[in-house]
Amino acid sequence: MQNTVTAAILYNYVQCPRRVQLDFLGPPSKKNRVSAFVRLLWERGNAFEHETMGKLDEPFADLRSLKLREKEQQTLRMMRLGEKIIYGGRIRTDTLVGEPDLLVRKGSGYVAGDIKSGAGIESPDDESGGKLKLHYAVQLALYTDILGQLGSLTRNHFPFIWDAHGQEIDYDLDTSISKRDNRSLWNLYEECLDAVNGIKRREQEPLAAFCSVCKLCHWRSHCRAQLKQDDDLTLIPELGRAKRDAIYPHRKTVHDLAQADLTGIVHGKKTIFPRISAKTIRRFQARAGLLARPGSQPYLKEPITLSDADIELFFDVETDPMRDCCYLHGFIEHNRLKPDEETYHAFFADQPTEQQERNAFDQAINFLRSLDAYVIYYYSHYERTTLRKLQKRFPDVASEEEIENLFSPSVAVDLYTDVVRKKTEWPTNDYSIKTLATYLGFKWRDKEPSGAASIEWYHRWVETQDSRLRQRILDYNEDDCIAMRVLLDALRGMAK
Ligand code: SF4
Repeated sequence: MQNTVTAAILYNYVQCPRRVQLDFLGPPSKKNRVSAFVRLLWERGNAFEHETMGKLDEPFADLRSLKLREKEQQTLRMMRLGEKIIYGGRIRTDTLVGEPDLLVRKGSGYVAGDIKSGAGIESPDDESGGKLKLHYAVQLALYTDILGQLGSLTRNHFPFIWDAHGQEIDYDLDTSISKRDNRSLWNLYEECLDAVNGIKRREQEPLAAFCSVCKLCHWRSHCRAQLKQDDDLTLIPELGRAKRDAIYPHRKTVHDLAQADLTGIVHGKKTIFPRISAKTIRRFQARAGLLARPGSQPYLKEPITLSDADIELFFDVETDPMRDCCYLHGFIEHNRLKPDEETYHAFFADQPTEQQERNAFDQAINFLRSLDAYVIYYYSHYERTTLRKLQKRFPDVASEEEIENLFSPSVAVDLYTDVVRKKTEWPTNDYSIKTLATYLGFKWRDKEPSGAASIEWYHRWVETQDSRLRQRILDYNEDDCIAMRVLLDALRGMAK
């Protein structure tokens, strides 16, 4: 096991403490192979870094190609000589190692920075709305800590991120983690460092937790099997790691919670668990009951009213966030008067160019204009957000008003937000369209269907123009649209 703590270890710890424990001590034979999408992320990250440095109009020392030991020596030497910008250096103490993309001289010392091919702050669309990213903060804090210990830190400047939008984001490590958590980012770094050292010394053994990060993690199969075996509480939809950790000392498994007498746990509107209300624990207990009882069926929590429009459209976009490009608008058109017929309409950007992206958007909008009356179904706010962004970039294609009208509740239904989450319960571990449609017996034609895989296929299509990749993307998108129709059929059945 390595003796030092690196920025990558802290990054992983913030994403999932179990990942760090398994990376140190887990059986290597149980690792999944790294997915093509993750490899693409690495490649894109490197390419973006080179491109950014290539555009820099200041000289810099480039240490990337040196071997580790030489790199460390040269970094120290360059800092002693007062080099303005050091790219690809390596700094260390006895217990910490940092490889900041950049060391920039400010006054008599240095600050560290990283180049990231994503946004430097959380998206304003996310729950965390525009905050500094914790997993970036702990990395920058580690570099800052090492520079401080080496006596090379400039204290009145902040470490920084150069991000995909060409912005420099300062990371003031005294900033609070969030409005509800007034620990500073530096406090978080120190706690993460302690916890990682505790894991290394085998004093702590964090539990796995079923969460969105698992999809791209190389321990996903191993953890999934463990979670099932442990009947872990995170298998309850939307319960998550933080709530599981709060409940765990009292109820450890899905079956425990399903059978729990809540007297003594619930007090009025509150519970004995911090930040979990009585209403929330009852909701999770109902979900636990569904998972624990063999043969459980999904049910409606409240009546749903579904449109009786004859023409139904099921709409799904494919986007590549790294290129900031929407490359496919797919629609299944279903006429309820001819229930056995459905037609797939696809509007595809053959290249990730502005012109092609605009054309695909234009064709999708013209397709919608060509229909008389319809109801449009989509799954989560992502389609609406994407079309709003496209409208801002290509206002000649459609007005803001037209896009808002498209998603007006009288003609458009977000099946995930407005129906599944609000009004139904399912005996599944999450509410993704993949999980629900699979539960209902639908099978994607592709063996490894996912939005991440689609991005990787698109990347290869752009590079090779292999028509099989294009067709794979279209088939996958079509199946996503059909999956929504399968779900809608089931919801209609439940509403009878
Ligand atoms: S699969 Fe999930 S729980 Fe397991 S280590 Fe990875 S992120 Fe953590």
